[in-house]
Amino acid sequence: MAITDVTWRSSGACQGLDAEIFYPENEDHADFALSVCEHCAVRIACLNYALDTREQQGVWGGATARDRRKMLRQRRHTA
Ligand code: SF4
Repeated sequence: MAITDVTWRSSGACQGLDAEIFYPENEDHADFALSVCEHCAVRIACLNYALDTREQQGVWGGATARDRRKMLRQRRHTA
């Protein structure tokens, strides 16, 4: 899937929810967003998009920004 292809977004479990839920001021308050992502059919596409675009903010694909930074570090170490 090309990085510019974001058609998966319309199938996200977060559709219709308040976007602020996915951008908590404190990542320790991301539990509700993470629980929505857990049951999302496009979670992997969403996570890959956020990793590939180095998305700095919010919960994407069941991962907080902190989680994604860790994943990117691991990716670099295994590359
Ligand atoms: S994984 Fe989470 S943020 Fe991504 S589309 Fe699904 S519900 Fe929305």
